[in-house]
Amino acid sequence: RTVYLNGDYLPEEDAKISIFDRSFLMADGVYEVTSVLGGKLIDFAGHSKRLERSLNELEMQKPEVFDDLLDIHRELVRLNDIDEGMIYLQVSRGSAGDRDFAYPNSDVKPTLVLFTQSKPNLADNPAAKIGIKVISIEDQRWGRRDIKTVQLLYPSMGKMMAKDAGCDDAWMVEDGHVTEGTSNNAYIVKGDTIITRHLGTEILNGITRAAVLRFAREAQMKVEERSFTIQEAKDADEAFITSASTFVMPVVTIDGAPIGIGTPGPVAARLREIYLDESRNSAL
Ligand code: PMP
Repeated sequence: RTVYLNGDYLPEEDAKISIFDRSFLMADGVYEVTSVLGGKLIDFAGHSKRLERSLNELEMQKPEVFDDLLDIHRELVRLNDIDEGMIYLQVSRGSAGDRDFAYPNSDVKPTLVLFTQSKPNLADNPAAKIGIKVISIEDQRWGRRDIKTVQLLYPSMGKMMAKDAGCDDAWMVEDGHVTEGTSNNAYIVKGDTIITRHLGTEILNGITRAAVLRFAREAQMKVEERSFTIQEAKDADEAFITSASTFVMPVVTIDGAPIGIGTPGPVAARLREIYLDESRNSAL
């Protein structure tokens, strides 16, 4: 695999960063994951905008090549011959050559890394026909979940708890209300209304979420952006998640309780279809 590191396209085994890099020592880094369908980038503009916001919120320097990121993504797709898959991008505050809590001076340049992951069945994912099972866990992450940092230990623990329970993912709960999935936004459908948590510092502003809600409204579906409880989710007609790598994915059980009749619902199926069609049409 050919990866990108600070201006160079390199074989992955030659791409090396300092042990003092702040993403390694302090989780002082932000990231984006953009999916690729038919060799083209899905929702690139949204991911690029959110990256800029994450950098601003953390007062992190923009990589000098920020305006060339589309070209860099495309070049990696080309070099690795990716038809379907993902591109992972990470910016860290870089390495000041020692360990220090304070941010380094502005002469320390950020570290920029990109790599591809080929996933031949991203769109035609068999899981979309079966649906996924989730458990609920307490949300123990920090309070700025609107910033897409690489501090992913609790989400990793959540996925492991789900796995140990024979499930696929966990929905996190704070003050009795669902925040989001470990790496996705959470939705329920009640009657003809799609319900998903309102934006704020408690969740990530999903790029797929924004697109899906726009398509839902354009298709005259009702959308409510508000918080909901696990009990409300268990009583819902349908549930689903969205993210760049799963698009729209139905949820069929929560803590073992079937949602609706326990099979993927029509709203999630329709939104998945619309999202895939529309994003393929506008892919870069
Ligand atoms: N919430 C969290 C916590 C996530 O990690 C992700 C995926 N990175 C999302 C939501 C979904 O965001 P997006 O649709 O931009 O992938």
